[in-house]
Amino acid sequence: MQNIFEMAKKNLEKAAAAMKLDPKVAKILEQPERTLEVSIPVTMDDGRIEVFTGYRSQHNTALGPAKGGIRFHQDVTMDEVKTLAFWMTFKCAVIGLPYGGGKGGVVVDPRKLSRSELERLSRGYIQRIAPIIGEYDDIPAPDVNTDSRIMGWMVDEYSRLRGHNVPGVITGKPKTIGGSAGRGSATGRGVMFCVREAFNVLGIDKSQATVAVQGFGNVGGFSAKLIHDLGAKVVAVSDVNGGIYNEEGLNPYDVEKYVKETGSVVGYPGAKAVSNKELLELPVTVLVPAALEGQITAENADRIKAQVIAEGANGPTTPEADEILSAKGVMVIPDILANAGGVTVSYFEWVQNLYRYYWSEREVHAREEELMVKAFNEVYKASQKYQVNMRVAAYIVALERLSEAMKLRGWI
Ligand code: GLU
Repeated sequence: MQNIFEMAKKNLEKAAAAMKLDPKVAKILEQPERTLEVSIPVTMDDGRIEVFTGYRSQHNTALGPAKGGIRFHQDVTMDEVKTLAFWMTFKCAVIGLPYGGGKGGVVVDPRKLSRSELERLSRGYIQRIAPIIGEYDDIPAPDVNTDSRIMGWMVDEYSRLRGHNVPGVITGKPKTIGGSAGRGSATGRGVMFCVREAFNVLGIDKSQATVAVQGFGNVGGFSAKLIHDLGAKVVAVSDVNGGIYNEEGLNPYDVEKYVKETGSVVGYPGAKAVSNKELLELPVTVLVPAALEGQITAENADRIKAQVIAEGANGPTTPEADEILSAKGVMVIPDILANAGGVTVSYFEWVQNLYRYYWSEREVHAREEELMVKAFNEVYKASQKYQVNMRVAAYIVALERLSEAMKLRGWI
C-alpha cells in the first residue's frame, strides 16, 4: 500500500503539470523542512507512567512561519502528520496568508484519559516541541480531538517555559486569554461561504438544496448550523457512533441539544438511522465530509449523488475517487480551500495577539468572508483558465504564490 504522503503528492504533480511549474519548486515541496518525533512521559492518575509518542512537522516556510493544528488520535502516525503539514502549506498559500505549513499529533485516544491526565499530556507535549515552536517560528492550533481548553494549557505551558506571556504562540485559545472572537465557528463558517459561492457559480437555488454532513464535531457541527441558517435543508448528520437522516430536514441546533444530553446524534427522535458510509451516498445536493481522511474512495465514489462536495475534513477524498468524481461532473471544493476558514481566523487571532488589540466578532466574520470569497473565486477562475477541477486549481493558485516566494528568497 502506498503511504498517505505519497498519495497527497499526486495533487502537487497534477497541478505542476497543468501550470508547467518549475520542477525545482516541486522538488523542494516534496519533503517537509523538519519533522520532530518526541516521547512524552505522563504520570497517570493511578501513579503509573505512560510514555506517549508525538510529532511536529514543519513542511515549508517560504511564505512565513509554520502554522497548523495538533491532533490527538490513536491512529496518528508520522506519515499522517507530514501529510497534514504539507496540506497546511497549500491551505495557507491558497488563502494568501503569510504562513507556511505545519502540523502536530500525539498517538492517544483522549477519551481514555481523565481531565488531569489530558492536561499533563498537553503540557508535556509542549515541553517537548518547545525548541522548535514560537510566535515567529511555528504556531500550533486545534485539530481533531483538541479544543480551546487544551490550547489554554498549551499556551500557559509555553509561556511558563519562556518566563513571560506569549499569546501568539498558539491560536484557538479561550477568549479571555487571547483567543479571537469567531474562532470557534470559523472553519464551519468558511465551509458555508464556499457552499454559498458554489451555489452562485453553479446556479443552484439554496432553498431547494439538501445537505448531508459527516461528522458533528467543531467543523461538522458549525457547518450544519450555518448552512441551515443560509437556507438550505440539512437532511443528515453523523458522528463516530453513526448517523441520522430525515428527508424533511433536521434542525441542527436541536440535534446539538440532543448531543449535549446524550453524547451522540444516534437515536435522535424522528430520524432514520444511517451508517457513516450510507450517509455519503444519500441523494443530496451537497455533501460535507467533516470527519477524517480517506472517506470517499474508488470503492464508493461512483455511488455518490451530491453535485457539490465541500471538504470540511482534511483529505477525505482519495486521488482515485477524485478522478471518478471529476468525470461525473461533481464540484469538489477541496479541503485546502473549503476548511481554510479555521486557519484564516487563527491568523486574525495571531495578528491581534501581536498588537494586543482585539476585534469584534462582526469584524472577524466580515474579514473571514472577504478572504474566503476572494480565494474561492480565484480558484474557480483558475479552474476555468487551466480547464482543471477545483482541487488542481487550488494547488495551482497556491503554487504560483509559493514559487514566487521561493524565487524572491533566492531558494531556487
Ligand atoms: N487544524 C486546522 C486546519 O487543519 C486549523 C489550523 C490552524 O488554525 O492553524 O486547518
